[in-house]
Amino acid sequence: MLKIFVCIKQVPDTTEIKLDPVKGTLIRDGVPSIMNPDDKGALEQALLFKDQFGAEVTAVTMGPPQATAILREAFAMGVDHGILITDRRFGGADTLATSYTLSQALRTFDYDIILAGRQAIDGDTAQVGPQIAEQLDLPQVTYVEHVEYDGKDKLTVRRNVEEGHEVVEVKIPCMLTFLASAYNPRYMNVKDIMGAFNKEVTILNADSFPVDPQRLGLKGSPTNVKRSFTKGAKAMGVLHEDLTPEEAANLILEKLQEKFII
Ligand SMILES: Cc1cc2nc3c(=O)[nH]c(=O)nc-3n(C[C@H](O)[C@H](O)[C@H](O)COP(=O)(O)OP(=O)(O)OC[C@H]3O[C@@H](n4cnc5c(N)ncnc54)[C@H](O)[C@@H]3O)c2cc1C
Repeated sequence: MLKIFVCIKQVPDTTEIKLDPVKGTLIRDGVPSIMNPDDKGALEQALLFKDQFGAEVTAVTMGPPQATAILREAFAMGVDHGILITDRRFGGADTLATSYTLSQALRTFDYDIILAGRQAIDGDTAQVGPQIAEQLDLPQVTYVEHVEYDGKDKLTVRRNVEEGHEVVEVKIPCMLTFLASAYNPRYMNVKDIMGAFNKEVTILNADSFPVDPQRLGLKGSPTNVKRSFTKGAKAMGVLHEDLTPEEAANLILEKLQEKFII
């Protein structure tokens, strides 16, 4: 049976996001959390495989204990197992430490395909999926919008690229990262909603799987956020069309002198 692991992340609902005007940091208190939208696309594809091929689907999240909520949501959509990777030692992890921790946990399981969202709407780096693939030495396909499985060992994957689409074939085991826009994630169904609260979430911590403690959390994070800030409001620009390059250059010069910039 096809064994699929889907990495899902709990993120603040960005339509409700507030920023501390002085520190420029995110105010998380009182902000509702949701499952990252791209991860719902990945979950939907995993559940389509479950419908078509009877795959076994496990959702995995790394985060604080309250991230259990998105595992319950995943159960209610039809996921079979849920894993929460949680430990204070993981706190302050950047993408490298996050993907290392997720990879070390995933290594201990028998998987055929690992799925993730393309990008999380809070961190927005789109690094974690590809980094997991690197750490587990798996072939990866990113920006996925459609997948077909030959029932044996090959996936035919359509990915969205700037100029159009690319269709690639990849052998399993592999890692795919998904675009939410390509999928209509299913709603939770009544039977699974009832079952979601009876299913057990497997909880793992830094002692549950082999890790190098130096590669966890803040200690294992080579990147450092120096400053974060919101873009100030900007007045509407003025569009000057049909100028010759000389007229355009003179106009720019004039405006810069007007503002005492030069
Ligand atoms: C120096 C530094 C310190 C940080 N400190 C903290 C901190 O103290 N607390 C904090 O909350 N964040 C912290 N972060 C943010 C944290 O690194 C990111 O939230 C995390 O690494 C995921 O990156 P991303 O959001 O860009 O995900 P992306 O790479 O955009 O996510 C792509 C996909 O990877 C998967 N994925 C990503 N993260 C997870 C996860 N946790 N579990 C399961 N799947 C996942 C999802 O499928 C997601 O769609 C810090 C970041 C930096 C750079």
